[in-house]
Amino acid sequence: MTADDETTSRRLDGNAAAGPLRDLFTVDLAAATVVCAGCARTAALATYTAYADAPALVLRCPDCSGVVLRFSSADGTVRLDLTGTRLLVARPPDGQVPGSRT
Ligand SMILES: [Zn+2]
Repeated sequence: MTADDETTSRRLDGNAAAGPLRDLFTVDLAAATVVCAGCARTAALATYTAYADAPALVLRCPDCSGVVLRFSSADGTVRLDLTGTRLLVARPPDGQVPGSRT
């Protein structure tokens, strides 16, 4: 088995990240739009590649392989690194955006 085969066998889709992130966000992020900082790929979080067995949950861009998100929880804290995400756009299910003026 090559290193590429091993990496490929570990891949999940971005839905694997939505469950753990639910603890941090009150909206379902599977449908949130993520813009990759590396290549500007713009797509739903669920379409990115998740590695859930790393020390942190890691989401990579399927186009440029850049890390768009790292998430971990330990010792009563959660850590979210969005360095590789240019923009994340989520829509609350009830359409009520906190802080919006109607
Ligand atoms: Zn990318």
